[in-house]
Formats: sequence, C-alpha cells, structure tokens
Amino acid sequence: MGQINFKLYIMPTTLRSTTHTAKKEHHCDYCLQKISIGEEYGYAAMVYCGDFYTWKNHIKCEWIAHQLNMFDEAYEGVNDEMFCEEITNEYSNLMDKHFNVICESKNYEVPNFKDQLDFVIKFHSDRDQ
Ligand SMILES: [Zn+2]
Repeated sequence: MGQINFKLYIMPTTLRSTTHTAKKEHHCDYCLQKISIGEEYGYAAMVYCGDFYTWKNHIKCEWIAHQLNMFDEAYEGVNDEMFCEEITNEYSNLMDKHFNVICESKNYEVPNFKDQLDFVIKFHSDRDQ
C-alpha cells in the first residue's frame, strides 16, 4: 500500500494555481465582489477532505491578505468571512491611528465594505512604495 498524503485530508491543498484573464464575470472568493471582464484574477484548483473545488480571487485581495498576515494562523486557509473581518478591523485600526479627526467628526459614516477594502489596500500600497 502506498503512502497516504494526510495533508490532502486535513487542510485545503492547492493542486494548481495560476492567473487568468476574466472572459466573463466572476466573484472573488475573498471579498465576494465582482471580478470584471478583462481583469486578471488568481485561479486555483483545490482539494479539501477529498472534495475538489475552484477558487477565484482578485490579485489585490490576495496581496492584502499577505500584507496583513492573514495566512499565519489560518491553517484551513483564509475564507471570505475571515477576510471581511480582518479588513473591517484593519480599517478601524487605520482610522483610529491615522485619521482620528475624520472619524471623530459628526458627519462621519462608516463606509460600505467595498470602500473599506479599497481604502485598506490603497493605504498599504502607498506605504509600500
Ligand atoms: Zn476580492
């Protein structure tokens, strides 16, 4: 009998990952927002507990997930729920730390998730340069 690869059973395993250009609209498995036609996106064939599935994501979502070290403790991978929670947390951290004047003002409203995500990504990519 051959060796059993336990890794295939206890955690999601990437069989193949690549970058595609969207020929039709997709949804990102991290942020659940639209991947537009013509946009480059990450595509992976995965297996978890013997089930095969595909994973699609915005390039920038994967990038920010790495920036925020989301994979460090995510032994089962980063799912959309965790991703959204981390982004929302990071957004309020950034506002507290750097934009306190804005969020203290009485006209301030917490933006929707997509705007929070764009803000967090922009903040980190500006800081990177
Ligand atoms: Zn996304």
